[in-house]
Amino acid sequence: MIKFLDLHKINERYRKEIDERIKKVLDSGWYLLGKENDEFCDNFAKFCGTKYAVGVANGFDALRLAVMGLGFKYGDEILVPSNTYIASILAISECGCTPVLVEPDINTYNINPALIEEKITDKTKAIMVVHLYGQTADVSNIKKTADKYNLKIIEDAAQAHGACHNGKKAGNLGDIAGFSFYPGKNLGCLGDGGAVTTNDEELYNKVKALRNYGSHKKYENLYTGLNSRLDEIQAAILDVKLKYLNDDNNYRKKIAKYYIENIKNDKIILPNYSDEHVYHIFAVKTEKRDDLQNYLKENNIETLIHYPIPPHKQVCYKGILGESYSVSEEIHKTILSLPISPVIKMEEAEYVVKVLNNY
Ligand SMILES: *Cc1c(COP(=O)(O)O)cnc(C)c1O
Repeated sequence: MIKFLDLHKINERYRKEIDERIKKVLDSGWYLLGKENDEFCDNFAKFCGTKYAVGVANGFDALRLAVMGLGFKYGDEILVPSNTYIASILAISECGCTPVLVEPDINTYNINPALIEEKITDKTKAIMVVHLYGQTADVSNIKKTADKYNLKIIEDAAQAHGACHNGKKAGNLGDIAGFSFYPGKNLGCLGDGGAVTTNDEELYNKVKALRNYGSHKKYENLYTGLNSRLDEIQAAILDVKLKYLNDDNNYRKKIAKYYIENIKNDKIILPNYSDEHVYHIFAVKTEKRDDLQNYLKENNIETLIHYPIPPHKQVCYKGILGESYSVSEEIHKTILSLPISPVIKMEEAEYVVKVLNNY
C-alpha cells in the first residue's frame, strides 16, 4: 500500500537529534515557556521573515489569538473562504465574530479576490486569507481591497510553512498569521503545536500575554486570555525539524512537478505548478471522484479528501453561514488528494502516475 502520509517514516529520519533534544528538556527541569520555546520562535520568525513569532498550543488557537489580538469582538465581520478547513471559520465564530464566506477561485482553491468587495459591510473588520493546500492566496490583489476599506489581513498559514507570494513568505504577508504544527503539516511536531507571526511589536506583546491567561507578569492579568502555550518538548522537536523544512518542501515540489508533467488523463484535472507552492496537499479534480478513489484503493494507493463536507453544510453551522456556495460545493464533490510527502519514494510516485494514466 502506498500510504497517503507516513508520519513514522517522516520523524524516524531525525530520531537521533529528536531523542537528544527531548532528553535535554527532561534534564533541564523546565517544561513550559523556556529556552526551547524562545529559540524555536526566534528561528521560526527568521524562517518566515517576520520580526516576531509566538509559540502556542495548536493552529486553531493561533488563529483565535490572532483575532483576539486584533481586538475584534461580537458583531465584527471577518471574511473567510467558503472551502477552508473548519478551523479557520471556528476561530472567527468562537471569538464571537461573524464569519462571512467568500467563494474560492475554482482553479487555485483560494479565496477569489474579485468576490471580496461585494461582501464588505460597515461591520467588516478583516479578511482571513487561507493559503490552502500550500499555495498562498492572491494577497497582493486582496491587499488593495483591504487597504481601500481599512481592513486587517489575517493569514491562516496552517498548510503553508515556507510557501511564498512574490518572494515573500507565508506568515509575513498580512497583519498577523496563524500556523499549525499538527503532525501531518509540512512542519509538524509529535503532538499539537502552533505559532502566531507578526511584524507589529504591540500585537506581538499582546498575543504573548493572551496565550498565557492574558498575563505579562505573573499574577497580573491585562487581558482575559487563554491557556495556550507551546511546550518545551514540542518546541525542541520543531527546532530540529525546522532545519530540514526547506529540503522537505523542495522534495514535495519535485514530486508535484513529476505528477504534473506525467499524469496524462482527460478525466483528471491537475493543479498548476509553482515554485512558490509547498504542496502540503496535492489535490486533483475529477468528475467521478469516489470512483477514482476506489480504483486507486484497489491498486493499493491511499488517497484522502480535503474536504468531503463544505463548512456551510456542517450540522454545527446549519442555517448560520448561508445556504449555497456553488463553487465550494463543486470543489468538495470533485476533489481528491494524492499521496505526497518528503518520504514518498520516486518509484512510488511513478507507480501512482502509471495507475492514474491507466484509469
Ligand atoms: C490544520 C489546520 C488548522 C488547525 O490547526 P490545528 O493545529 O489542528 O488546530 C487551521 N486551518 C487550516 C487550514 C488547517 O489545515
